[in-house]
Amino acid sequence: MMTIDIRKLNAQKSYYGEMKFSYEAPESLLSIPFVQFDGRAEVSFSYELYEDDSFEIKGRVTYRIKGQCSRCLKEAEQTVEGELDAYFQPKKDAEDYSYFGGIVDITKAVEDAILMSMPFTLSCGDGCEGIRYSSETNQSEE
Ligand SMILES: [Zn+2]
Repeated sequence: MMTIDIRKLNAQKSYYGEMKFSYEAPESLLSIPFVQFDGRAEVSFSYELYEDDSFEIKGRVTYRIKGQCSRCLKEAEQTVEGELDAYFQPKKDAEDYSYFGGIVDITKAVEDAILMSMPFTLSCGDGCEGIRYSSETNQSEE
């Protein structure tokens, strides 16, 4: 769980600062066939806690994906960076994200950042030549 104790931040008068989490993203966030996460997602952001107890985070989610290149099926891997930008309000039915009992859970915001940044395909690189068909199979049999 990636949670932040707002009461503690208020008690410490830590109204802004930096935070880091690492997160084992669930496979359900992946949309590319034959691709999986390579290790944990790294979450880093700066936060600001306002007088009305609303809480804002801005930063990055970085994760690696690996699997088959979507064009040539070779093993490939890629580092992806998503933008994390979320505003939490201590009330129900908030427009953005909400929280209760003084604890902000940023998991949903992090998963949204991963979903937004997920590429549609995985590529082995700029030099990918796609699937090559053997020229021999194209020769006529005359
Ligand atoms: Zn490729």
